[in-house]
Amino acid sequence: MSQRAKTNEQRRRTKPEMRIGYGWDSHEFKSGIPLKIGGVTIPFDKGLGGHSDGDVLLHAITDALLGAVAGPDIGSLFPPSDPQWKGADSVVFLQEALKRVKQAGYAVGNLDSTLILLKPKIGPHTAEIRQRISKLMKLAPDCIGIKAKTPEGMGTDNAAIAHVAVLLVAKKANKRTSSR
Ligand SMILES: [Zn+2]
Repeated sequence: MSQRAKTNEQRRRTKPEMRIGYGWDSHEFKSGIPLKIGGVTIPFDKGLGGHSDGDVLLHAITDALLGAVAGPDIGSLFPPSDPQWKGADSVVFLQEALKRVKQAGYAVGNLDSTLILLKPKIGPHTAEIRQRISKLMKLAPDCIGIKAKTPEGMGTDNAAIAHVAVLLVAKKANKRTSSR
């Protein structure tokens, strides 16, 4: 039994080299508000309602990052019921998640995402979204996957859904010591 306890203790001390994170989000389309996806304003007659500016992709990325470091989720950190987040720029949420990733001793390796929405077409905006996320996350554009599909047979034609997976890579804590 003591042998097993020791193994568990060692496991706690050993930081995994990599961590995976997964996030999911959805918002309903509403008339008369701007559409923001991945920090980019996309021309459309409707936007995404609900939490903050409704940026479904930034929310899913935020949750994926928080999940990767076993942190609280976006709704716990920034409750939708709190009026201070009404209409808020979702970049604030992403930055908090990135701060927690850094504090945990990790850097983002890459991310992949899939958006599911009927309209508008995301293809023409993919490059701009990738550039924006690259800048926000200080991550090379070729490490950011942006894919979009239509909700065939799902009955979610008036919503946008985002799925995101992230990979975190441990930062070498002893780099300075070993270079001496
Ligand atoms: Zn959301």
